Amino acid sequence: VSGGDTQKYSAVCRFCGCGCGVICEVKDGRLVSVTGDPDNQSNKGLNCVKGYYLAKVLYGEDRLTTPLIRDDSSTKGTEGGLREASWDEALDLVASKLKETWKADKSRLAFWGSGQQPITEGYITAKLWKAGLLSNNIDPNARLCMASAVVGFMNVFQTDEPAGCYTDLDYADVFVTWGANMAEAHPVLYSRLTARKLNDPNVKHYDLGTLRTRTSASADKTLVFHPGTDLAIANCIANYLVENELYDADFVEDHLQFKAGTENIGNAYDDGYDASDVGQSVDKVWNIEFAEYAEMLKPYTFEYTSELSGVAVEDLKELADVFADPDKKVMSLWTMGVNQHNRGTWMNHNIYNIHLLSGKIAQPGSGPFSLTGQPTACGTAREVGTFSHRLPADLLVANPQHRRYSEAIWNLPEGYLDEIQKPGFHTVKIFREMSKGNMDFLWSAHNNWAQSMPNLTRFLGRGDQKGVFDTFVVVNEVYPTLSTQYADVVLPAALWVEREGQFGNAERRTAVFEKAVDPPGDAKWDLWIILQVASRVLEGEQIDGQDAFDTLFGFIWDKSAGDFKGDSRQTNIDIWEEYRTFSNPDLNEKAKAINDNASGEFEGKLKMEAKQLAPYEEYLANHGLTWPVREVDGTWLPTMWRFANGSQEEGFDEVGIAQYGEEGLAGGVSFYKTAKGKPSVVFRPYEPPAEEPDDEYPFWFCTGRLLEHWHTGTMTRRIPELDRALPEAQLNVHPDDCTKLGVTDGDLVRVKSRHGEFEIHVSTAGRTEPAPGVVFAPFFAQETLVNLAVHDYYCPLSKEPDYKKTCVSIEKV
Ligand code: SF4
Repeated sequence: VSGGDTQKYSAVCRFCGCGCGVICEVKDGRLVSVTGDPDNQSNKGLNCVKGYYLAKVLYGEDRLTTPLIRDDSSTKGTEGGLREASWDEALDLVASKLKETWKADKSRLAFWGSGQQPITEGYITAKLWKAGLLSNNIDPNARLCMASAVVGFMNVFQTDEPAGCYTDLDYADVFVTWGANMAEAHPVLYSRLTARKLNDPNVKHYDLGTLRTRTSASADKTLVFHPGTDLAIANCIANYLVENELYDADFVEDHLQFKAGTENIGNAYDDGYDASDVGQSVDKVWNIEFAEYAEMLKPYTFEYTSELSGVAVEDLKELADVFADPDKKVMSLWTMGVNQHNRGTWMNHNIYNIHLLSGKIAQPGSGPFSLTGQPTACGTAREVGTFSHRLPADLLVANPQHRRYSEAIWNLPEGYLDEIQKPGFHTVKIFREMSKGNMDFLWSAHNNWAQSMPNLTRFLGRGDQKGVFDTFVVVNEVYPTLSTQYADVVLPAALWVEREGQFGNAERRTAVFEKAVDPPGDAKWDLWIILQVASRVLEGEQIDGQDAFDTLFGFIWDKSAGDFKGDSRQTNIDIWEEYRTFSNPDLNEKAKAINDNASGEFEGKLKMEAKQLAPYEEYLANHGLTWPVREVDGTWLPTMWRFANGSQEEGFDEVGIAQYGEEGLAGGVSFYKTAKGKPSVVFRPYEPPAEEPDDEYPFWFCTGRLLEHWHTGTMTRRIPELDRALPEAQLNVHPDDCTKLGVTDGDLVRVKSRHGEFEIHVSTAGRTEPAPGVVFAPFFAQETLVNLAVHDYYCPLSKEPDYKKTCVSIEKV
């Protein structure tokens, strides 16, 4: 459709963390086409198949358009039991239950948010929970996806999110994918990787994983390793560099400090183990000399590592030589295979270690790059403080100066936030507490926990685990899901471009999606829903003698009118301006004074990414900007490699902001946010997975995403073309294992673990090619609930569960 009878709007794709820009075309109030946005530098006009069919995501036949209430909680877990209600009835009920729990025992309420919740919505939700309810029981589903990356970033660089950008894909000489199936999970970035390879036959790709995937197809070599031994492989490379003096000695001397940490930190499965110490951690880290680090690496010889991992010595050596070559630009890419790992934080460390030792970081084409899963895991879940241990802009609830600074911006009296200095429940803890009957109120928005949480048998079992049936559950949703089957109230939400919002993608690019169409029926903008509930819950509450709701939200909401003061655009701008103050202290007198007076080591000091955020209109005009964003001579400049020197290099818009550090150091980089300007190389050993195969459960079971479906499939399965392309979740099994099991393609099997079981059809010709002893199934299909069997052991540092390594048995049904 084209011509004068349509309107165009710029937006960002609703699905993965690539964050592709799109142009939406609207005719007669209906979204009629979506095409790639050539002006968005993250994708330069490309989309994957999910992007091409985006328009249809709004128009599934069973969109939720009316609030729903469940009067009888015994009907939970069924498709029935919900009745239609007015907004007033639903909002009054939600607010009264929330207020009742809040007044009785704040530890028994929680909000579970999302890396799919736009930035301004996440910011207001976090503000309500932290400043309004004085509760840290708020966490995003990004805990299941990026938490290990976050802790890794903070431990090593003291700032969250990557040093590089997507442009690295255009300049690397070698790509190393670590447990990342980019071809299916980050397709547009994968096409950029393959384009680079096709344009230069000398470019190499090493794919490391526990099974072969579509990503292996473009690799020059696929290194299939035994689950969990990636820790040893990275240490083996480090050992080779150090032992043979093949590391970058100047870079090491100028930039790095070395540390070791506690070993044997457990696997955080038993409830008693978990003290909810998010962001604190059970391990202690201490300084060591480089020589001590070298000594610790010594056991990781090629021979030892080969025996442990199953990867041939010559392949390990070939990969190590890549990092040893000073002339090679190497880009490491990883995501869930590394993060969803019982030592996910450690594995993030170990990848950084080899890039830091070899000085391969913060240069075009060279660097470690952590991919994100969700569209705004970076922008919302992390940057605006929706984690249980965070405040906006990387600030921490446990840090007194960070609390003072937040109080200044939020017009709260000094010391007001001291009540939330202890981190709240992380995601797994929230659901474990619910399963034990210790949660009275759970509000879940933009996620489908009843399908996506690991160890669903723990959470959804009836038996003596009645927590989910006794907890008052509120779900904001766009389509019926398994989670709405467990909800007491379902609030129909506007989807994607039915309101304006912003996503922040994997390369730190923040981009706006404009409102293009109205939501259907009585569906509402989530921000409207949150503030309607907030105005009811905070009715009669005061902060420093003033009306609490007006203090916190009066800048955007007219309480007497029960609506926003401005339109959707203006509301977003007003929220943005307040959020922007967190990284631009100059915008707030009190915050500026606190920042200017801050001193000492990093622990007590505020070190904002200078002028990290630009005014809202800049993001619209530029179709997204990568932060930190600086104003130079009236122009707002994005940053590409933020630890690189600040000078502009030929061919790039703007390189880095390292003029805040010292000049003249090796590699032209400065790690300006770390204490003493030195990131940490932390020795992290190999430790075995949380459970290992035995006679009873002889197979490794790995789960993941496939191209056509987004997460639990609630949106993409409503798009007929995508549903037809991949209608069923199947279990990929090696043919030799099929022979041993006496099964063949199409057979129905029962997959059983120590934790639960499910049934699924077998395929030997699936999208993954597991090695013998390994099986794979995707998690998009509601009728094939793989997470009933997946364990919920998690990395004790990040609290991110290991979805990739459950031990199972398989039998024909
Ligand atoms: Fe881009 Fe991901 Fe959307 Fe595909 S799903 S168009 S790769 S953002």
